[in-house]
Order: sequence, then structure tokens, then C-alpha cells
Amino acid sequence: MALPLGAPPRIALKSRERGSPQVDPGYHLMELPTKVLIGDGVISKLGDFVKDSAGGRRVVVASGFNVATKVRRAVEAALPLEPIWVEVAAADTENVARVMKAAAESGCIIGVGGGKSVDVGKLAAFRLHLPFYSVPTSASHDGISSPFASLRGLDRPYSLMAKPPLGILADIDVIASAPRRLLASGCGDLVSKLTAVKDWELAHRVTGEYFGSYSASLALMSANTVLDNSRSIGTFSKDSVRELVEALISTGVAAGIAGSSRPCSGSEHLFSHYLDRLAPEKGLHGEKCGIGTIMMAKLHRLEWKRVRTALKNVGAPVEASQVGVGDSMVIEALTEASTIRPDRYTILSARRLTRESAALLAKSTGVI
Ligand SMILES: [Zn+2]
Repeated sequence: MALPLGAPPRIALKSRERGSPQVDPGYHLMELPTKVLIGDGVISKLGDFVKDSAGGRRVVVASGFNVATKVRRAVEAALPLEPIWVEVAAADTENVARVMKAAAESGCIIGVGGGKSVDVGKLAAFRLHLPFYSVPTSASHDGISSPFASLRGLDRPYSLMAKPPLGILADIDVIASAPRRLLASGCGDLVSKLTAVKDWELAHRVTGEYFGSYSASLALMSANTVLDNSRSIGTFSKDSVRELVEALISTGVAAGIAGSSRPCSGSEHLFSHYLDRLAPEKGLHGEKCGIGTIMMAKLHRLEWKRVRTALKNVGAPVEASQVGVGDSMVIEALTEASTIRPDRYTILSARRLTRESAALLAKSTGVI
């Protein structure tokens, strides 16, 4: 999520929301989604899906302004009682408070939409100790299943720890009709697990931080879904959209098993978060992570050209100019991104790029 430049307002976070401590205590909590319903037309089963949590009460639906009338009607038709709709204008604490107020008497919260409504609903449910259900209408990033929520206006530009959704209902009919740009952005968030996992391994070697090879492999499998099948995924047929959604759900599960965002978010995410600061509203999260992955893959001596080709095949941007980000911003993000989260050791902490080496990296990979 974008964070404006300048001093953001300080908002107190609960200690759980700050995420894992810098010092590994030798244990961690795994929290996972309990059920996933995926397929064509499953939105009509939403009432049954949330029945146990709703317990005969009205439920709160946090949605975006742009949720299609068709989806809105389908949600209303599927629920036994008329839901309380809260339209989420932005992913910020004000909207979290609005959803919490509306949900005080309800049995659960459902987030219907893209990023913002799912993030806001997830955090509101976490703070109220209510079950949360995610009903994505696009597949642009892995927040649909992860235990994290991205919010604006905090003292940091990266995600808060919350809880994973209790259930995810992914209607492929609905998601496959999302704009292609959003689906391609989801592919960018998926390939980013390649360098996130490499950064995690590096941190384990250098700092002794916990590394979970199982969750790392799971995240890599999701990245390979795009890297190995980019041409077929890029058709965004119903079958390929289903694969994309399953891979995104799986990365959220990988984070749940790791007990942190480590398998899903490394130097490429820090690069994307830094661009959020420099150029709010430019490019989608997954698009910026994809571009970052090309460069971080080169730093890690991975097959960066393969990443670039896969992104091109799915129609995701591979050059900064395609998302309206200038060369100087890319160079600044490469040299400064590691400062926004000093506790997250990555290849950018190890290499400490100068402006010259950053420019060379970005030029040699075709990003600028
Ligand atoms: Zn991401």
C-alpha cells in the first residue's frame, strides 16, 4: 500500500500486529485458513460457507466501491439475512474503525473485493476477535489468504501481522472477469517468492534467523507455477486463473507455516514498499514486486532473464517506465530500501548498493 512522504501519523499497534521479534525465541505460532471453497459460481454458497460463524446474526461485508453490481447481488442473494455493507474507501485505520463499529453485534466479517477491503476487514476482525472470510474478486496479490494486512498511515510502510482468514471463498467466474492488469499483478507477487526465499536463506546464514525449508519450498512452488507455465497462465483462461488463485492461497499458507512473511516478502518487497513512498499511486503492488524480483534475482545470481520473460509472457510490466516510475526513483529505492526495515536482512543489506552500482543493475536488467 502506498505511504505518502513526510512524517506519517503515529498510530499505536497491538504487540501481535508488529509481527515476529528480531530475536528468534526458538518457537513460533502457525495459523492457517481453515477452509477454502474454490470453483465456478461458488459465491452462491456464501451463506452456507459462513453459517457456523454468523450464527443467525447479520454479517458485515467490507467491500470496495467498485464491487460489481452483479457480485453485490450474488452476495445478498446467498446470505439468509441482509448484510451490513461497509464501503471501504482506503486501507487505513479510519476505515478499520468504521468496519469495527458496524460489526460490533455481528458474528463475522466478510471482505469482498481486491486488496483494500480484504485488508481492512481482516484487521477489523482480528481486533474484534471475530472470524474473517475473504471473498476475492481479483487475484492481484497474496493478501487474500495471508495473515497480514497492509494499511496506510502507520509508522512503517509494510504489513501488519493479523490472523489468516478463517475461510476463503474464491469464485473463479468472478475472478476470471477481473481486469487482466490485476491478474498479471498477481503473477508479479508470485514470482517474487523466488528472491524472498533466497533472502530468507541468506539471513539464516548471516544472522542465524529461523529458516523453515518446508514453507520456503511451498512458496517456491507458487513462484514456479508462473515461471514454468507463464504462457498458459498468461491466457488467463478459467483453468489458468484457478491455478493462479490456488498458488496465491498457497503462499499465504506458506507465511502461516513460517509464522512470518519471510517466505513471501524479501528485498523485492522492500524495493516495492520504498517506491510506494516515493511515488504513491504509481503501479500495483505485484507489478512493483515483479520488477524488483528481476533485479534482486540478478544480485542473487539467479536466472533473472527467466523472471523477466515470464513477467512479459503474462503481460506484467518489466520496465519502471511502464508503471510511471522514473529512473532516479528506481536508483534511490535500490540504495535506500533496506533502511525501511532494518530487522529484515536481505541481499540489499549484504550488498549496500551505491548509486552507481544501482544504476548499473537497473540498466543491465532493462528496468531503466
Ligand atoms: Zn506481496
